Amino acid sequence: MAHLTDQEIASQASIQPIEEIAKKAGIPNEALEMYGKYKAKVDIHKVEGDEKSSKIVLVSAMNPTPAGEGKSTCTVGLSDAFNKLGKNVMVALREPSLGPVMGIKGGATGGGHAQVLPMEEINLHFNGDLHAITTANNALAAFIDNHIHQGNQLNIDPRRVTWKRVLDMNDRALRNVTIGLGGPAQGVPREDGFDITVASEIMAVLCLSNDIEDLKEKLSQIVIGYTYDRKPVTVAQLEVQGALALLLKEAIKPNLVQTMEGTPALIHGGPFANIAHGCNSVIATNTARKLSDIVVTECGFGSDLGGEKFMDIKARKAGFEPDAIVLVATIRALKMNGGVAKEDLGEANVDALKVGIKNLEKHIENARKFGVEPVVALNDFVTDTDEERQFVLDYCNDLGVRIALTKVWEKGGEGGVELAEKVLEVLDQPQNFKFLYEDEMPIADKINTIVTEVYGGSGVVLTDKAKKQIAEIEKNGWGHFPVCMAKTQYSLSDNPKLLGRPEGFEVTVREVIAKAGAGFVVALTGDIMTMPGLPKVPSAVHMDVDKDGNSKGLF
Ligand code: ADP
Repeated sequence: MAHLTDQEIASQASIQPIEEIAKKAGIPNEALEMYGKYKAKVDIHKVEGDEKSSKIVLVSAMNPTPAGEGKSTCTVGLSDAFNKLGKNVMVALREPSLGPVMGIKGGATGGGHAQVLPMEEINLHFNGDLHAITTANNALAAFIDNHIHQGNQLNIDPRRVTWKRVLDMNDRALRNVTIGLGGPAQGVPREDGFDITVASEIMAVLCLSNDIEDLKEKLSQIVIGYTYDRKPVTVAQLEVQGALALLLKEAIKPNLVQTMEGTPALIHGGPFANIAHGCNSVIATNTARKLSDIVVTECGFGSDLGGEKFMDIKARKAGFEPDAIVLVATIRALKMNGGVAKEDLGEANVDALKVGIKNLEKHIENARKFGVEPVVALNDFVTDTDEERQFVLDYCNDLGVRIALTKVWEKGGEGGVELAEKVLEVLDQPQNFKFLYEDEMPIADKINTIVTEVYGGSGVVLTDKAKKQIAEIEKNGWGHFPVCMAKTQYSLSDNPKLLGRPEGFEVTVREVIAKAGAGFVVALTGDIMTMPGLPKVPSAVHMDVDKDGNSKGLF
């Protein structure tokens, strides 16, 4: 039976006026800034509540297939299941980027009967936040180049400007560019490059700020490059933090929408988890904590990426901790991790599951390393066989970890009730949350700890360049920052082809870059790119809009 697309299911769902959703969430009308009938920004200063009594359920996953494992789907479905059980719940998600929407992976609004609405508007230009971030990022680039052109009072070395321009699209042709060509009136020529907007430090800063004052302070600390005598140059020295904060004054407000079952959802900020820190904004999570007893929130890719970064970056900076972790697994991803080719994932193969399940086992161990008990959500596909399902259920039972067959894609909240009940059992227990490393640990040791403990590798190889950069970072007083690893999402290692649960591998760090505004250092591994490319046949070729403005082909 041909099933409906996510977009078709979403278009048939009933949607409530956003004021109704706000009322349900306890958001007063005066806090709402309407963006049409179904979306609103929330003035957080007009929202009351006590954050401390709320529980955080973090949804993470095993290493995925290229299509994604249904993390957003399960996050939305789990919140609807809590809603069904009469719990006061909110969901906090990341905003989609146009790169994956137009490229290969699709949007970030869930799927099947577990989606947030209006999916089309959330997936395209959602309330302008990503455009504002792009603009602020590129305004800073313009201020830097203008400063150099106008006499360069700060003595900025044009060869050592680290601030890049950004675009919210996968565009490999812009990875390396030369600017300022054409003679003295066109500025000072230098090599530059573009990242995708979700990798911008402005995105990270927006997501880690508590309010606009904090945002401005963090913006002022951003390092844009170095002087001829290798001293860092900050935004504060360019005196533009006020202008940048001004450009972000609407974008910093979280966006209220709803799930298909009317659960209030805050969607705000969207750094990728492979090349950035991978979590929605602290402001949205804290607002949801004020308003509800349970906040279900997702972090990007597996526990090796978004999971680790949620704990060691977001939770550390925000001062909260997860009370339960949901690990989304699929039989497809388990088979892929067991060596099955992408084209053959539809065929039953218990032997491959036996190998691939080791990948999930590592993610279970990872959750426990942070002192938080996981619950596995086996995201059910209609193509899975009973024998395959049983194998995974038995394996997890033998391992002593909770698991629930999760059918939210097919059935909405009702399909997630078992998962919600098992998560509630964990929420009733005290957890012993701890960070993987302390602030004082040297940067190289932090990287080594992540690689050996979370990835299961044997150690780290630092290139000479990376070693030099770490020495400079520590000399500049940033040694206490947590590390944001940039790594492939497909493998626990830095090699996307090394599936399952690899062991004995080393991870090579080719570059380490300080993000002094966001307050972390990025360690780049393998071939990971901060500006992705489009695939041979991008999703864009299936998209269209008719004369009445109806879209189609958005997954
Ligand atoms: P992730 O958050 O892990 O990237 P998503 O929740 O965005 O994954 O889901 C990716 C795609 O997979 C979506 O198009 C969604 O409809 C589809 N999907 C998710 N779960 C299922 C399922 N159980 N059966 C069929 N398709 C699914």
